[in-house]
Amino acid sequence: MSTLSPGSTIGILGGGQLGRMLAISAAQLGYRCHIFAPEEDSVAAEVAAEFTCASFDSINEVSNFATQCEVITYEFENIPVAPLKRIADKILLRPGTRVLEVAQSRLEEKRFVGEYGGKTAKFADVPVEIALGEALMAVGLPAILKTNRMGYDGKGQVRVTHDNDLAGIWRRAGGDQLIAESVVEFDAEFSVILVRGADGEIRYWESTRNVHEDGILARSSLPAGPLIESQQAEARRLSAQIADALGYVGVFTCEFFATASGPVFNEMAPRVHNSGHWTIEGSVTSQFENHIRAICGLPLGDTGLTSERMEMDNIIGDKGAGAAKMLTAGDAHLHLYGKGEARDGRKMGHLTRLYR
Ligand code: AMP
Repeated sequence: MSTLSPGSTIGILGGGQLGRMLAISAAQLGYRCHIFAPEEDSVAAEVAAEFTCASFDSINEVSNFATQCEVITYEFENIPVAPLKRIADKILLRPGTRVLEVAQSRLEEKRFVGEYGGKTAKFADVPVEIALGEALMAVGLPAILKTNRMGYDGKGQVRVTHDNDLAGIWRRAGGDQLIAESVVEFDAEFSVILVRGADGEIRYWESTRNVHEDGILARSSLPAGPLIESQQAEARRLSAQIADALGYVGVFTCEFFATASGPVFNEMAPRVHNSGHWTIEGSVTSQFENHIRAICGLPLGDTGLTSERMEMDNIIGDKGAGAAKMLTAGDAHLHLYGKGEARDGRKMGHLTRLYR
């Protein structure tokens, strides 16, 4: 397997905090990063060698970017696949385009996971308003309606308890192609974060207990508790099967609900994940470093814990302003992403505390 030499350029599609933390790890390993993002104020570009600000849809810009990189990866899954397919035979793209096609559609990913024996919430396709009544009957009430594409952090989600105003529900849910899901009665949430090398080797990080507020991750913590610990092995097996089937290279995340009857798959993210930010200090090799190692063909690093007890809290909205005060707590590590404007629900940084 060939290894990318130090000084080579890694292209990163997407310019947010995940790209920023990937670029920091890449720099440590002697690589240069070139960020490609549509927004000018990219927090990843601030720590990278090169920046192309252009639309993901522009085949010319994407092709030109590809000629300047030795490998390309992404930190964001909602990238148009067509321009990437045009460059896929000329450049190493890791992970590839197949996982993007699957992960960009909630319907497609649930069907895909079902083929490998994964349990999901009951779900039904709602391509048009007229299909809504039947879909809600199929999954039962209460239900959750989600936009099939471009949804993240609980955006584009509506809880439905009554089906007496279907037109109003359709409007509230965004009036686009939807998926209806049954509400899963879960006891806890967790994710499997794994890294798969170019030679197929897989390593896992410990699954944390993830707590969401308003659909956004608020806290990841360890120990995750007996329920999650008892369901981790089954969730790992499924996640690894999916990664193998996709010929995946890099860090891959699957989110699960821990229920009384076992793990229920919620969604996948073909990238480093917010519930793995703790790995920067809480594990021997972080998710960011191992992603860079995997896509560059380097040996994978140890994913073992540096501390059995830790918490990672997201800093959301204007809480970032007083964040430095949080450093008074024991072994606390503050990461601020350098975002200018603190909007409601915007991830400004995170704080990891280790208890040794
Ligand atoms: P998602 O964007 O699908 O990750 O959803 C964000 C959060 O909403 C999840 O982490 C859960 O806390 C909650 N959620 C999403 N789908 C369901 C479901 N079918 N049943 C119960 N809770 C859900």
